[in-house]
Amino acid sequence: MLIYKFIDYCIHPKIKEDEFIFFRAKALMWLHLIVYLYTFVAFFLESFSGVNNDVAAWVVFLYNTILVLILKYFGNLKLSGNLVALSVAAMLVPHVFVSGGLLSDNFLWCIFIPILGLLYGDFKAAAFYLCCLLLFSIYLFYTDEYDLTSPFLKRYPPEYFLISYDFLFIVLFFMINSFRIEQQKLIASLTEKNELLQAQKKEIINKTKDLEEAKVALETSNKELEQFAYVASHDLKEPLRMISMYTQMLQRRLKQHLTDDTQEFMGFVIEGVKRMQQMLEDLLNYSRLGKNHDMQRVDLNNTMFLVEQNLKMVFKDTKGVFIYESLPTIYAVNSEITQLFQNLVANGIKFHHKMREPEVRVFTHSIDFDSFVLCVKDNGIGIPADSKNRIFNLFERLNNREEYEGTGIGLATCRKVMDNLGGEIWVESEEGNGSCFFLKFPNSILEPIEELIEK
Ligand code: ADP
Repeated sequence: MLIYKFIDYCIHPKIKEDEFIFFRAKALMWLHLIVYLYTFVAFFLESFSGVNNDVAAWVVFLYNTILVLILKYFGNLKLSGNLVALSVAAMLVPHVFVSGGLLSDNFLWCIFIPILGLLYGDFKAAAFYLCCLLLFSIYLFYTDEYDLTSPFLKRYPPEYFLISYDFLFIVLFFMINSFRIEQQKLIASLTEKNELLQAQKKEIINKTKDLEEAKVALETSNKELEQFAYVASHDLKEPLRMISMYTQMLQRRLKQHLTDDTQEFMGFVIEGVKRMQQMLEDLLNYSRLGKNHDMQRVDLNNTMFLVEQNLKMVFKDTKGVFIYESLPTIYAVNSEITQLFQNLVANGIKFHHKMREPEVRVFTHSIDFDSFVLCVKDNGIGIPADSKNRIFNLFERLNNREEYEGTGIGLATCRKVMDNLGGEIWVESEEGNGSCFFLKFPNSILEPIEELIEK
């Protein structure tokens, strides 16, 4: 499996670096096991055939030294440093006290171990080995288990046990190191994710900045456009008034000299001017929307009453019916709210079906936790499905002027009023079967419940 992985790594060098380190640590572990198995076998051989037990110890030592060299070039140095220093320590300490004494060459090896730790592990590792050595030495010194005259020790020399200890250390350290590698892997992936998040954050900040800039530019251009619409509609009113006035004067003075055709043409001019004046008036009103910030309590029942009064003649002429059910009180600009409902109700009557008497109803459609929806419903001619959105655009009309008069600004005004309130307006309709205009208001403009109770 490991060999396969190694080949795979050589073929696909894109395998992540940390994965490879983990794999290599595993390979080293197996190598360790093999060598230690060999050492055990050597000890048993020695026990039965008299082979010098030092051979096994030297095998372990040599193996560790080679390991250091291999790892220096290919491996995780901390891992190898820890393993090597510990295994050498475990193997050599007893020699100091059991066979050599403090001034023996074994003692020099003991000094060499922490140096190894420092070189290939780290400072903490070196300190740890020194402590281990000391504790181990003290333990060995005060225990009579290592009395060389004991028949037990003759049969099983200290190395036998110590190699076992060594093996335990190796297993332990492999586990710790595997854990460390896992940890490193985790840290690496977290760092990677963090970097990705940082990059995304940067991107979002840049995009937000761009959006804010675009918003400011849009607001400025909107303001300029509104200003332009206001100035144009205001200033154009005067020359138009003059055209209308003087055309009417000419019509009156030249009445006897004009042919019927010319009279009719002049009538068209006056009619056109009137229409343009109405359009300019509507446009002026439209551009004024949102400029008035005088928010006040608006009882929508009172608004409906006012609308009914304003359209009294229209209802009378068309025999129209206007019904409104108990409606909420909101905070808004009174004149704009009146304009909103008046436009919708007037349209409901204006675009009535020839076959039935017009009826317009205003009622609360639904109340949500953050908004409420009112509905203005009529039984008129309805709106084709493909025109449901465009009727809210400026000057957009679906019917010709001869049939239904108007400037095409009414619904655009409604939308602007709703936009300014943070609401929405849309229509559901079936052609020939009436329309229902939905007005979604945010609950924030509702009259607070306490005030309702006080009332
Ligand atoms: P205007 O009423 O001056 O024509 P609006 O902006 O109020 O302009 O309406 C735009 C168009 O939407 C109207 O010309 C009409 O075709 C259509 N419309 C508006 N309200 C209704 C309605 N209640 N029923 C049918 N059509 C409507």
